[in-house]
Amino acid sequence: MSSSPVALYGFTRPELVALVTGWGMSAVHAARLWKYLYLEGMDDFAAMSELPARLRSRLETETMPGRLAIARETHSSDGFTRKYLLALGDEHRIETVLMRYTGRTTACISSQVGCAMGCVFCATGQMGYTRHLTPGEIVAQAVHVDRVLRHTAEENPALSEADHFSPHHRHERLRNIVLMGMGEPLHNYDAVMKAADILCDGAGMGLGAKKITLSTVGVVPGIIRMTDEKRQMHLAVSLHGATQAERLALVPAARAWPLDALMDACRYYTETLDRRIFFEWTLIEGKNDGPDQAHAVGALLKGMQAQVNLIPLNPTSGYAGLPSHNTAAKRFQEILAGYGLPSTVRQRRGIDIGAGCGQLAVAEG
Ligand code: SAH
Ligand code: SF4
Repeated sequence: MSSSPVALYGFTRPELVALVTGWGMSAVHAARLWKYLYLEGMDDFAAMSELPARLRSRLETETMPGRLAIARETHSSDGFTRKYLLALGDEHRIETVLMRYTGRTTACISSQVGCAMGCVFCATGQMGYTRHLTPGEIVAQAVHVDRVLRHTAEENPALSEADHFSPHHRHERLRNIVLMGMGEPLHNYDAVMKAADILCDGAGMGLGAKKITLSTVGVVPGIIRMTDEKRQMHLAVSLHGATQAERLALVPAARAWPLDALMDACRYYTETLDRRIFFEWTLIEGKNDGPDQAHAVGALLKGMQAQVNLIPLNPTSGYAGLPSHNTAAKRFQEILAGYGLPSTVRQRRGIDIGAGCGQLAVAEG
């Protein structure tokens, strides 16, 4: 019985070496293959001319890189955001977004098909949970974005030069990853961490661990495990409510992991690792954007190494709320500043392409 080819993007470098040496071939060739995949962004084994023909033909019959085809692509009118609906090997699709503003290139990648957490205002939450992504499917999204940047440089060198053209590479490279696409990354812990290890491998994509930000709805055991494993990526926690009752109304997962336990886990993280935590707060007009809520956030986070990222709501079909006005966001920020808490209001560029979490997949039906 022939099994389906395995996706190499799901292999760590030691695993790839083990695969190739297990076939009786040299670890040097495995190292070359790794560079073809991640430094040169190649996915056609036949074109990997420095690999022995015997290895190339074995790769072709038994493996595949694991490239994800573009099912749909949308560009924001300002040109700074590109959103991709990528086709998985089964019938499912996920979203990956490339953002090129604020002086950085960032990929927003997904960790699951759908999400089990059911946050009321979230398009992904509204579609429910289908399955976890594999490590290879998570890595493939970053490879996809890196490939897009590579081609952008080829099509328009002047643009790349003016932007963040690296003298060490012949094209702009992906610098930052946020795990803020579809899904709850700490619900798919092992696959997400393996993918991060693959992407941070210095001989390949070589992303700094501190260039990855993982956003969680507040999965307490996952935060504790990240702390115990001394994970170097940044942590963002989606708060949205500063009392258990107000949070639970927006975030059903707060029933399993109540606010007190979440804050204990966050303190354990910041104190053990001496790291700052980002707290995300979706601003919904008249719901959680008033001065009372801002003071409650201030009291809750006072004294912590914390930064609050305020995100005006992206309206979704399944939730009636509206985004807060700028004046409410500004007032919220001023109150937080009074508690010594820095904050940002996320730019809403890309909103015209439905860049809110899960929105392209929903539009696709
Ligand atoms: N599951 C993780 C990461 C994905 S969502 C999490 O919940 O943190 C990334 C961020 O986008 C979260 O803070 C989430 O609450 C927020 N978000 C989801 N839908 C949104 C919407 N329609 N408008 C604004 N922010 C939204
Ligand atoms: Fe899942 Fe995050 Fe959406 Fe909540 S906000 S439903 S945790 S993807």
